Amino acid sequence: MKVKIKENAKSVYINYMIISCYSNYSDSYAKKMERLSGKTLEVDIGCLFKNSFNIIDPENPDKIIHLSEYLVKEVIDDIRYLKMKCNYCGMDQDKDIICSRCKKTNFLENIK
Ligand SMILES: [Zn+2]
Repeated sequence: MKVKIKENAKSVYINYMIISCYSNYSDSYAKKMERLSGKTLEVDIGCLFKNSFNIIDPENPDKIIHLSEYLVKEVIDDIRYLKMKCNYCGMDQDKDIICSRCKKTNFLENIK
């Protein structure tokens, strides 16, 4: 599963921060968006989210960058259709009615 980051990701990020009054603005994050804009990057599928992605930094594969959906142009080979997240313990797993980790029912939710 990959995501293609918007070509203008840095300005999209800055504009989004202006709208939200810079509450979470990070200059180093803006620089990251400049560096990664237009690139297609691998998603860390070990932890999936509904409206965001953990992506693997191509220049530093040990590092994960959290990316909101509004910075993404396209999702490629989206596996979220096949997965669910447990709202009790946070476990991602294949579609089921019982969480494979905490064994609770009624907490599983479609990610996509
Ligand atoms: Zn669970």
